[in-house]
Amino acid sequence: MPTGPILVFACRWCSLLGAERAARERLPLPDGLRLVPVECAGSVSAEAVIESLLNGAAGVAVLGCHLGGCRHNDANRDAHARLEALGALLDAAGLDRRRLLISWGDAHEAKGYAETMRSFAQALQALPAYHAAFDAPAHAAAPAPRPLPPDGSGQDAALREAAAAALAEGKLVLGLKASPAGPLPALFSSEEGLGQLTAAGKSPIAKTAWRLLRDQAAGALVPGNADLLLRLEARERLGEKQLAVACRACDARALRQLASMGQLSWESLSILRIACSPEQKAWCSCSDASWPEEQPEQAPAPEAPDAAANAELWQKEFSRCVQCHWCQRACPVCVCPSCSVESNSMLPLGFLPPAPLGYHLARAMHVADACVNCGACQDACPQGLPLLLLHKAVRRSLDKAGYAAGHGQEPPMLRQRLLADRSGNAAPRWGSGLPINETPGR
Ligand code: SF4
Ligand code: SF4
Repeated sequence: MPTGPILVFACRWCSLLGAERAARERLPLPDGLRLVPVECAGSVSAEAVIESLLNGAAGVAVLGCHLGGCRHNDANRDAHARLEALGALLDAAGLDRRRLLISWGDAHEAKGYAETMRSFAQALQALPAYHAAFDAPAHAAAPAPRPLPPDGSGQDAALREAAAAALAEGKLVLGLKASPAGPLPALFSSEEGLGQLTAAGKSPIAKTAWRLLRDQAAGALVPGNADLLLRLEARERLGEKQLAVACRACDARALRQLASMGQLSWESLSILRIACSPEQKAWCSCSDASWPEEQPEQAPAPEAPDAAANAELWQKEFSRCVQCHWCQRACPVCVCPSCSVESNSMLPLGFLPPAPLGYHLARAMHVADACVNCGACQDACPQGLPLLLLHKAVRRSLDKAGYAAGHGQEPPMLRQRLLADRSGNAAPRWGSGLPINETPGR
């Protein structure tokens, strides 16, 4: 007997019929099945699966029509990419993807349904209970402080030259300025000031650029305190000018991704490239230094997942998470006006911050098809959680679906986020679904 109920999301056009017939024919079924009829298995979100697991389900089955036989515009193909990515995430986080059964076209007959459910229950029986481990954090000791990023100032001269050319073309430059507190985002509008522009350090500069361009598109300061001084300065100086952003390849991919999401206009900016040294790549745990117009670099083949080792790792890591959500604030592609992950559907009491396990699983899936693997979340974490391990696992899964965020490609999970354009235009909008000048502050 598995350690909890088994939630079965059953499409009403196929597996629900199989389930009903199996019951009518009194076929032997495992204990603890909880049937949830759905109009289409393609509508089952990753959050629904995560929430079911966190609320005590031993496993979750998503049963739909065979791929190619969906009655709802092939929605099950999107669900397949989404749930496969979730499976990879469950493995990476130590929950074990075998808790999630994704089955297309196997359960529409009574016998097929009963057999599928019996073998799933059997597989779940072999898995250890995981709730206790994650519910009782061990409050592991903080790790040694992360070393500072390698000095990239060797590229300062080349970057300043490119910035001077951008200024000469009438653009405003956004880059990092050396300061005693480390490199900080700054605007450069004159050649004299460029002496302070540096290629050293790393910062989530794509998000800063997004805020500046959002104000420009709105023609006013959008409410929100982040980067306020810089935004006030940009209001004075940017006007109708193009913004030239000094950034690394991952920042450029983040900007490209934001453009794909309708959050900024790609034409409203230009990129001043900072190439990453091997030392910088190692510091970032970077596996993709491709620019938006280049072929994405495939993440290295996954090591054989060791659920027990991953569970031990993340039990320790999540126990150190102080739920400050800096990871989310630093993320350049986290731009929804109100955050469903933060406001939390993972707990019945909506005013409590979500527990780290639910928060990080839900967040990784929420940004799955937008994450450019920049590592800004990991860089921002005061507790040094290796968050990129989770995001890379999702990325590897999407590589298989032929999709890499930040390269201007159509995402396989588009329908998950499809929101009607307010103008009545049929063209889909991403993310908030709001036109740029209506997107409130973040
Ligand atoms: S790596 Fe982290 S910060 Fe960067 S896009 Fe992905 S989730 Fe956001
Ligand atoms: S930044 Fe680190 S400590 Fe803060 S919520 Fe994210 S993972 Fe937890």
